[in-house]
Amino acid sequence: MIPYGKQSITEEDIKSVEKVLRSDFLTQGPLVPLFEKRISEYTGVKYTTAVNSATSALHIAYLALDIKKNDIVWTSPITFVATSNAALMCGAIVDFVDIEENTLNMSVSELEKKLIDAKEINKLPKLVAPVHMCGQSCDMEQIYNLSKKYGFKIVEDASHAIGGSYQNLKVGSCKYSDITVLSFHPVKIITTGEGGAVLTNSKELDDKVKLLRTHGIVRENLTRDEGPWYYEQHELGYNYRMTELQAALGVSQLDRIDDFVARRNEIANYYVQKLDEAKIPYVRVKEDRYSSYHLFVIKVDSNKRRKIFEEMRSIGLGVQVHYFPVHKQPYYKKMKDWTLPASEKTYQEIISIPIFYTLSNEDASFVIDAIKRLW
Ligand SMILES: *Cc1c(COP(=O)(O)O)cnc(C)c1O
Repeated sequence: MIPYGKQSITEEDIKSVEKVLRSDFLTQGPLVPLFEKRISEYTGVKYTTAVNSATSALHIAYLALDIKKNDIVWTSPITFVATSNAALMCGAIVDFVDIEENTLNMSVSELEKKLIDAKEINKLPKLVAPVHMCGQSCDMEQIYNLSKKYGFKIVEDASHAIGGSYQNLKVGSCKYSDITVLSFHPVKIITTGEGGAVLTNSKELDDKVKLLRTHGIVRENLTRDEGPWYYEQHELGYNYRMTELQAALGVSQLDRIDDFVARRNEIANYYVQKLDEAKIPYVRVKEDRYSSYHLFVIKVDSNKRRKIFEEMRSIGLGVQVHYFPVHKQPYYKKMKDWTLPASEKTYQEIISIPIFYTLSNEDASFVIDAIKRLW
């Protein structure tokens, strides 16, 4: 089966992890801070906190921005459930902004409409979490301008998007947000097995995130002098730490990120050319941005989607659908009966086809032939 996404692991990656296994520190050693420094350098952000998943990263990002019981958080319904779940974990009330059909990203015009309505009834969101679907940045400058007008915080869910750029700035720079979150799950752009990161330009937010990562425990600014063994708990935090083994893999993977993303773009350009020739639609990337192409999504007739999907699976193509709208999940439907027309319509048409660093040209052409035949 050719999967829709897959990691690339070299001998160097393996050696770097093996070296950790033979060292003194399996956790809380030098490699997590090194990985964090490398992520900061790569994205151009000031501070990075590595954690054990993007879900944890979202959770403590929201907490650091003071999201608590009954605060309102808006995100996109076309995302992995973690983006909104993490807000529910803070006790927040979640609502969804509909998408733009051609990019699958949060629609700025829908966001603006919803903000105008929310202001009328005094229910403006405290935080908005745009999701950079497939690796393409959302319209961050416009979302940022709305945040200034309506007074909300921004967390970018860039789980798909490390290696991409927007207005010639790397995703993660946080030019237009308070915090950006990354994922290092094996299907994503670079991997640490499981893992994630919280990026910010604010020292205050970074301090809070680092406190929440380790139980809310501090070793400085103590309230009493007990002795060298003494630490204090100042907040209710978690154990969301990344291990040294994961960080070693992350550092090693980050050395190759530009190759990973370049190859994904090479495959995407080939798909675009062939799909344009065959007049088959697909998710578009806007002019002023570079996608990391975590996903390549084609659009088919909604009546034929299931058949095409199953036939692609039957010939060994591990296609997927990203995503079933979050507001239609049974758990969310219990909360409210949402209608988000663009998300619901687009969901019926999408299929994610294989795209990853080690996908061969032959396999890419096999994918195209299958689509053209089944279309
Ligand atoms: C993968 C993903 C997450 C969660 O990442 P984990 O590292 O698996 O916790 C969150 N949001 C989006 C959009 C994702 O694709």
